[in-house]
Amino acid sequence: MHKLIVLLISIFFLNTSYADSKTTLYDFRFWTSPERTRIVIDTEQSVRFSIKQDKTQVTLSVKNAKLLNKTFKKLFYKDQRIKKTRVKRDKNTMRFFFKTFDDYLIKSYTLKPNNKYKHHRLVLDLYDNKSKAVKSKPIKKKTKKPTDIKTSKKIILIDPGHGGEDPGAIGYKKSKEKNITLKIAKKLARKINQTKGMKAILTRKGDYYVGLAKRIRIAQANNASLFISIHADSVKSKSAKGASVYTLSVRGGSTKFAQRLERSQNMADQFGVEEQLGKNDKYLNKILWDFSRKDRDTQSQKLGNKILKQMDKIGYLHKKKPQKAGFVVLKTPAIPSVLVETAFISNPKEEKRLNNIKEQNKIANAIYKGILNYYE
Ligand SMILES: [Zn+2]
Repeated sequence: MHKLIVLLISIFFLNTSYADSKTTLYDFRFWTSPERTRIVIDTEQSVRFSIKQDKTQVTLSVKNAKLLNKTFKKLFYKDQRIKKTRVKRDKNTMRFFFKTFDDYLIKSYTLKPNNKYKHHRLVLDLYDNKSKAVKSKPIKKKTKKPTDIKTSKKIILIDPGHGGEDPGAIGYKKSKEKNITLKIAKKLARKINQTKGMKAILTRKGDYYVGLAKRIRIAQANNASLFISIHADSVKSKSAKGASVYTLSVRGGSTKFAQRLERSQNMADQFGVEEQLGKNDKYLNKILWDFSRKDRDTQSQKLGNKILKQMDKIGYLHKKKPQKAGFVVLKTPAIPSVLVETAFISNPKEEKRLNNIKEQNKIANAIYKGILNYYE
C-alpha cells in the first residue's frame, strides 16, 4: 500500500555569511493540539536546514548545529503523534529523527524574533492527514449539529485568549495570561454545559496556539449564538486594576487605549498561523457582516453591559461601560461578541487573584450570570 516516499520539503539558506561558525539551537518547545503537533526550535538567523519525510519518520537536518546541554533533554517529547526522537551528529550536520505514529503532513517555516521571543525560530508542524481523519469519524460529525438545532440549544463559543507559542501577557510574578484564560474558560464552559438549553464550545482545550481567524471559523461552523473571548489585561503601570469588556467597533479602536490594545492583540498573528481568510471567506464575511452589523452591535453592547454588571459585584471595574475595539477575534459576522479583560495580570494583587481557583470561579460565574441575564 504505502510507497516509500522520500520527500525533500525545503532547504533554507537564510544567511550564508556565517557559514563557518556553528548555529546554536537555543531551545525546543512542543505543542500538541487536536489537529497538529508543533515543534519550535529557537535558533540563529543563519540556520540552514532540510526536512525529509519517509512515512512515519521525519528527519530534520541542521547544518553546523550546536545544542545546549541545558535544553538537550527537552528534545525528547512524546505525544499522540511523536513516538520517539533520536539525535545523530556527524562533522557537519546534526540530524533529528522524529519517529511518528502516522504519516503526517509536514509544514515548516522560520519566524523572526518578536517582543516575546528574542531568537529566530524554526517551526515544524505535523498535521493529521485530513482524508484519513474524515474517514475515521464521519458519522459523529454529521449527527452533532442537527441534534443541537432540533433541541435548539444555544451554542456559546468560549475563547480562551492566546495559547501555545503565544503566552499572552506575562504577570509581575511571571504568570502567563494563556494559562489563566484557559482555566477561567473551562470553568465557564462547565457552568454553561450544566445549564438546560445551552452548550459551550471552547476554541482551544489545551496549551496550543489557535489562529485568530480560525477561532472565528470555529464559531461560524458551530452556529454559535454568542462569542466570548477571555483575556487578562496588562499595562506598564503596576497599579492599573479592574475588569473591562470590549465589543467590536467597525472603525477600529475608539480610544488611544483601545487602539494600543487592538494592536497587541492582533499582533498574535506572528505566532506562525496564516491569518488570511480565504478570498471566498472574505467576500462572504463582508456580506454577512454588513447585513447583520447593526443589530449585532447593539446585542454585543447589551451582552457587555450584563457581564460588566456582574463583574462589578466581584471586583473592580477598569471601565464601567463596554469599550470599542477592532479585535480580529471579534469580527464574527452575525454573532454578538465580547472580549472580557478579566483583570490586570500586570498588577501583582490582581495577578494573585487571577491565579486563585476560588477567584477564577467567581470570574467565570460573573460572566456566566451575565450571559443568563442577556438571554432573560
Ligand atoms: Zn490577551
